[in-house]
Amino acid sequence: MKVVIDKERCMMSGECCYNHPWLFAFGDDDFPVVQSVEITSEQQRKEARQSVQVCPSGAISVIG
Ligand code: SF4
Repeated sequence: MKVVIDKERCMMSGECCYNHPWLFAFGDDDFPVVQSVEITSEQQRKEARQSVQVCPSGAISVIG
């Protein structure tokens, strides 16, 4: 599973970084970035899918 952020759609609300800091962090340009972590457990997959649902601008997607 891979997590992707569409910067064009991101409104920098911060939900992703606040709710799932193991997966997201704010980068130098203040946009969130996906941390380089292996998503291997079912709990991690579940949280990644949750991040897609709570993003207010639909900027997060998961692949795989
Ligand atoms: S939750 Fe969505 S809109 Fe908010 S900072 Fe994260 S990617 Fe951007």
